[in-house]
Amino acid sequence: MKLAARLGEITPSLTLAVDTKAKAMKREGIDVISFSVGEPDFETPAHIKAAAKTALEQGKTRYGPVAGEPGLREAIANKLQSDNQLCYASENVIVTNGGKHSLYNLMMVLLDPGDEVVIPAPYWVSYPEMVKLAGGVPVVVSTTIDSGFKISPDQLRQAITPNTKLFILNSPSNPTGMVYTPEEIRALAEVVVEKEIWVVSDEIYEKILYDGAEHLSIGAVSPEAYDRTIISSGFAKTYAMTGWRVGFLAAPLPIIKAASMIQGHSTSNVCTFSQYGAIAAYESSQDCVKEMVQAFADRRQLMLEYLHSIPEITCPKPNGAFYMFPNISKTGMKSLDFSNTLLEKYQVATVPGIAFGADDCVRLSYATHSDNIHKGMARFVEFVQSLV
Ligand SMILES: *Cc1c(COP(=O)(O)O)cnc(C)c1O
Repeated sequence: MKLAARLGEITPSLTLAVDTKAKAMKREGIDVISFSVGEPDFETPAHIKAAAKTALEQGKTRYGPVAGEPGLREAIANKLQSDNQLCYASENVIVTNGGKHSLYNLMMVLLDPGDEVVIPAPYWVSYPEMVKLAGGVPVVVSTTIDSGFKISPDQLRQAITPNTKLFILNSPSNPTGMVYTPEEIRALAEVVVEKEIWVVSDEIYEKILYDGAEHLSIGAVSPEAYDRTIISSGFAKTYAMTGWRVGFLAAPLPIIKAASMIQGHSTSNVCTFSQYGAIAAYESSQDCVKEMVQAFADRRQLMLEYLHSIPEITCPKPNGAFYMFPNISKTGMKSLDFSNTLLEKYQVATVPGIAFGADDCVRLSYATHSDNIHKGMARFVEFVQSLV
């Protein structure tokens, strides 16, 4: 069968092979410990579920406005003002089927064939593929463990060409867990303004911070930076709502109007009653977030203790999200081999770093119970010791 040429550009997911194997092993009754999932293990808080149930009972079951329920767009605009010092009207917000869909919409809206998009590596798996699907060209800039996996202003400046349209910034980061400091954000904003490119700030982990780390939205740096910023975020990670599929873009009006047009001909509105859950998430107490972040903080400490007990493994202390990104190069293995062997011999699932553009690392998620961390990390330590 001849499928569309654009599919030829897409890299098949390397993570899928390990993941499929882990699931098959679980089905066979094998005791697999999984550090590979990219979602909170908590239930969605009860008050959020209750709001969606009420919406269902009130008949919020029909088509709604393509760009989102007015109450949710307003709640998002209010949140961006109070939490992030970003002044958007509700017309500047579009509700999307998750943060992934918001980024996909943005690529469709912004990119012409040949437009370049600067993506610091390690990157979230979907960024380069989305850019390619929209006809753009990903320009990957590698960062190292020594720079804390952060792109420097000079690296950004050097990656920019006359064809550069967009820079993708993700802080806190998936997969590394690193968080840019406010000073670093300001320095990157200067380059964005100077070079007159767009920046999309993927802020999906902004509330999951540790050790006093601070999140500054690049759009809040200056009026000039604000004019070049698009915010992409969602409810999945902060409120344990991955399956609800609610995210959003906030941006200058022409971008939101264009994204609404694309959405109007593709997905239409996000599930109506899900949106009522999202309103409750923003407009109710944030204690549930505090509790989940505290649990993540304890698990982070636990996982780090195991990793730091292995001399051959280097792992910077992440101060955001719920991932660790240890360097495994001293084991002499590449990431895919490492993840596969660890799964086969010790029944621990991880994601090979090659999926994120970093073949000497693996990603471990600590969004799982501490009992699993004890059990899985003891096996991880044993595995590494068997190699060196
Ligand atoms: C999880 C995630 C998203 C979006 O997830 P949705 O479930 O689509 O809201 C976006 N960016 C990063 C970096 C993520 O890890």
